[in-house]
Order: sequence, then structure tokens, then C-alpha cells
Amino acid sequence: MDHARGTVAVRACGDTARAPALSPPAAGVPHLVALTEDDGRPLGLRGGVTEAPTGPCVRWTVRVRERGDLWVVPASTWLWRPPWLARGAEVTLSVALPAGWALSAPFPELGGDRWSIPPSAWAFEGYLGLGRFERAVVTAEGARFDVACVGPPGCASRLPSEAWLGAAARAVSGVLGRFPVSRVQVLALDGERSEEPVSFGLTSRGGGASVLFTLDSTRPGFERDWVAVHEFSHFLHPATDPGATWLTEGLATYYQEVLRARSGALSEEALWAELLEGFARGREQAGAWGLQAESDAMARTHRYQRVYWTGAAVCFLADVELRRQTRGALSLDALVRALHARATDPTRVWPLRDLTGLFDEASEGRWSAVVGPLVSSPRFPPVDAALASLGVREEGGAVTLDPAAPEAPLRRALLAAPR
Ligand SMILES: [Zn+2]
Repeated sequence: MDHARGTVAVRACGDTARAPALSPPAAGVPHLVALTEDDGRPLGLRGGVTEAPTGPCVRWTVRVRERGDLWVVPASTWLWRPPWLARGAEVTLSVALPAGWALSAPFPELGGDRWSIPPSAWAFEGYLGLGRFERAVVTAEGARFDVACVGPPGCASRLPSEAWLGAAARAVSGVLGRFPVSRVQVLALDGERSEEPVSFGLTSRGGGASVLFTLDSTRPGFERDWVAVHEFSHFLHPATDPGATWLTEGLATYYQEVLRARSGALSEEALWAELLEGFARGREQAGAWGLQAESDAMARTHRYQRVYWTGAAVCFLADVELRRQTRGALSLDALVRALHARATDPTRVWPLRDLTGLFDEASEGRWSAVVGPLVSSPRFPPVDAALASLGVREEGGAVTLDPAAPEAPLRRALLAAPR
């Protein structure tokens, strides 16, 4: 690390006498400052491949983007995949830091300032946090949350990590009976002034589970925050290709409300008020395209509300219909549990057709029968009939729940932890 220059120097050594030529990730090349042999002789880079090194080690230096006292360094800038890496090869990382600096990594810690770099680090983006930050550790539901908090002094003691992350972990754990992963790297960037305590979340999987949050540690309400519940819900499903975005975001958006209600952070009325409000936002943006087309174009159109909340409405209707048709034997939770049990390879990217295939297998085809027409239609999913049957009414901006509605028991069952 060179604080003054804003650079990170990497020395990578293999266990052969001569390292083969390296092929850095395309995203890393613009950050490259120097590339040399171990003894400092320059090594050329042509067409995305280095010249053949003469020794077992290669050195490179990359420039990183600074963020005050914390550098958030994407793996794609510094972690070049050695092509000689065999499946199952052990890769370890040791770090030399300037005095007073610390490292936050998604990787499993080996002790003695060494980390193990697991195969998912080569498959997905992940982030190192380097700098002067405060730490907090939260354990909840069998998982450990290593928090690096950076911002105005005292941020780790101001941030109610236990109440916030503990509540979110308990909410999400209801689906599987435990938290979906055993460790989460949490990068908490404090000092963002905003209406809500947590203003942004970004989940990543490279090298381990990780979430970056921007937040305002001086605000109340962390124990009811939805952002952490949304982000943690993404660990219930594996990495997917972009075609499945409507499904993964719909699931996390539906769960961010339902799981908070199940854990008591939201009342039943507040849950339905949140869902109705979200559905209205999705409906407002409904246009000429179906959900799949909107989802595929979202990076360009930024119509996030349309995709997230239409996806949430699809998940809601699927949840209701699965429970209805099977008298409660099947539910969205049951499909997510089936997916989690099957998704054991942390480097695999699931295409939408494989998710659909697994959900259909677990539901005897009910998933596609319900969801298929909703996803191709440009209209917002017809949630009104289901809401009326469940006894959810909106009058003058307030939500009332009818205990005598024909499907009031199903409505209450949505709030029960899965068996
Ligand atoms: Zn999301």
C-alpha cells in the first residue's frame, strides 16, 4: 500500500520455477501503473497478455480510487487471475499495511494477517476495504458480521450494529431456519445525510458474502431498516445471469417487507401498506413492455421501480397461488429452500431457465403456470382480486384488514415462519 500515491502493489508467486504469462482482467488494465519481474525488470503487456516471466513471481502496481479514510478496492483492479491456477489450488493472501491501517476482506481469515482466497473470488467481483476504520463484530443466527465502519469519528459506537444487523439477520433466517451464509463482510460508509438511516446497499459474492452500505449513524430506526433485509435476502439465492434480475430483485423486494413483518419489525397493517405503496410505484411505471423485456433493459432505462415492484407483485401472486393450490403445503419459501439446497457451488451462475426449471420441479409446474403469463404481459400483475380475497382494504390512505375475509387465514399464513 502506498497511501501518498494511492497505489496498491501486488507480488504474486506460484509454486513453479517460472510463472506463465498473466492475463489481467480488462477492468484492471486502466489502473495499471507498473508491471515487472520479481527483480524489478519491466514486463510487457500486449493484447491483454504479459510476456513470459523468467521467475516464479510477478509484481504489479495498480492505482485505486480513494475515498477519504477508506479505500474500497474492487478485486477486478488488483486480483489478476493466474492462468496456471488449477481447480482446488490453494491461494493465500498476506498484506503489508501502512501504520494505523486495517484490512476488511470478504475472504476467510487464516490468522496472522493471512487470508484464503476461495474460488468465488475469481468468478465474481468483491471488495477490499483498506484504511483507517472502526470495527464491530455482530454474531446472529449462526453468522458472523464483520463490520468496517468509516466516517465521522465514533461511527462504530454510534452505529447500532447489533440491533440493526441482528434484526435483519433474524428476519432473513426465518426462511431457512438459519442465516444463508456463515460470514458477511460489511462495509459501512457513514456520514451520508439522508431521510432513512440506510440509504444504499450493494451485495457482492466474490471471495465471500459482502454488503456495502451507505448510511447515517445519527438517525433512529435502524432496527426497522429494510435495506439490510433486502440485501441479505439476496444470499438466499445463488448468483444469476442478468435475465433473472426481475426474479431475484422481485424476491428480495417482496421479502424485505414480508420478512420484517414476520420478525415483528413491521405490524401486519404496515406490511400491507408498504406492499400497496410499492405496487402503486410499479404500476405507475408500467409501459408497453413486459417484465422480462423491462428487466433486460433496466441497466439502460433505470426503470428500477417498475422491475423491482412488478417482480415483487409476481412473487406475491405466486406465493398466494402456491399456498392456495396446495392448501399451504407449498409456498415461495419452499421454492427458495429447494433452490438453496441445490445451489451448493458458490462459483456457479444460474441462468433464468435453470431457476425456472428448479421451481417447476419443486412445484410440479405450478410456478411457470402462474408466473409465465405475468412476466410476458406489459400490464402490472392483477393483484387487486388477491388482495380483496385476503381481506386487505385501503380506505382513505389507511390499510384495514378484514378478519372475516374468505382468505384471511391465508393472509395470516404469509406471516408465519415456514415449517
Ligand atoms: Zn436487490
